[in-house]
Amino acid sequence: MNCRHCQHPLQHVFLDLGFAPPSNAYLTPDDLRAPETWYPLKLYVCAHCWLVQTEDYARADELFRHDYAYFSSTSTTWLEHARRYVEAMRERLVLGPHSFVIEVAANDGYLLKNFVAAGVPCLGIEPTAGTAAAAEQLGIPVLREFFGERLGQKLAADGRRADLIVGNNVYAHVPDINDFTRGLKAALKPGGTITLEFPHLMRLIEHTQFDTVYHEHFSYLSLYTVSRIFQAAGLRVCDVEELPTHGGSLRVHGCHVEDVRVTTSAVAALLEEESRRGLQTVNTYAGFQARADRIKDDLLLFLIEQKRIGKKVAAYGAAAKGNTLLNYAGVKRDLLPFVCDAAPAKQGKYLPGSHIPIFSPSVLLEHQPDYVVILPWNLRDEVMAQNAAVRDWGGRFVTAVPGLTWV
Ligand SMILES: [Zn+2]
Repeated sequence: MNCRHCQHPLQHVFLDLGFAPPSNAYLTPDDLRAPETWYPLKLYVCAHCWLVQTEDYARADELFRHDYAYFSSTSTTWLEHARRYVEAMRERLVLGPHSFVIEVAANDGYLLKNFVAAGVPCLGIEPTAGTAAAAEQLGIPVLREFFGERLGQKLAADGRRADLIVGNNVYAHVPDINDFTRGLKAALKPGGTITLEFPHLMRLIEHTQFDTVYHEHFSYLSLYTVSRIFQAAGLRVCDVEELPTHGGSLRVHGCHVEDVRVTTSAVAALLEEESRRGLQTVNTYAGFQARADRIKDDLLLFLIEQKRIGKKVAAYGAAAKGNTLLNYAGVKRDLLPFVCDAAPAKQGKYLPGSHIPIFSPSVLLEHQPDYVVILPWNLRDEVMAQNAAVRDWGGRFVTAVPGLTWV
């Protein structure tokens, strides 16, 4: 097997989580009577370009054919993040009625609606039918396609190159990152800007965020590796921001390689930090598995202990990262009888693999669990604020990553 970016043979396993079903393959009651497909879930690191990547085993359309239930607008934190981003970019790039903005993976229009409100013409690209329809209802034009070089060239040929191309939490999810990046190059106007947000590999390693690993998440990216991928496509990283989202993300600003813009000092500073932390050293990647196993074991011990002493435990947030954690730990309904989630599209369904049922958050009030395990730890503060009533009966909130804690 060769590296998806540079084609060098992959020899170093970074993390092996055994087998798991696709993390967004939520099940209906009917699905529970049918077999479920589990795929190997294993990460390699390329010792040439340092791209951390999933093992190549299944086609993307197989993973994304599932009724994708994630609607970005269900997280108020994320909505506010998008609103502030649009405000900052409108000011920075002086975007107005004559500009054109493209968002790849526009989801339900959580971000582009801010450009619509400001009178900036935009286009969403979103292959998932349910979320695309929601975006269209907000007045956002949507192309229901996967983005790549072919679509980028088509947009260019149609005279629809963009002043700004936005990609939030999509770059790590594309199977062919070279093709996707060439698409960005093709669809970008001369002088235009690309911004991509993705979880930062440096933080994943630092905080043992192994539960952010799942099949649909093909690449785990450092600034170093993204700079190489951009360069290979005729693009340049000209600025970078560190963001707290998803446990530590990067927002990379890109432009054509020949753009007159000067690359900011933030780029060199972060490249230096990554190097200092050993992101281009094989040894840095060894030992991660043992740390992941420790977290998994601690959660399992906690759940077994609570069951033995008769305490009630439930989970909150039917997120992809929760599925990775629960399936790696082998947790089933006997240890965690249900999970609550605010997204109506997920309620009434079951988590893939563990088959734990998903209920509305109101069920917490009925059952009054002693412990509520927050699976999307990155939204911990938001979840605790929205479910403050749990405190009324002495309930406590638990997170498992980067180490078991309860408050
Ligand atoms: Zn490589």
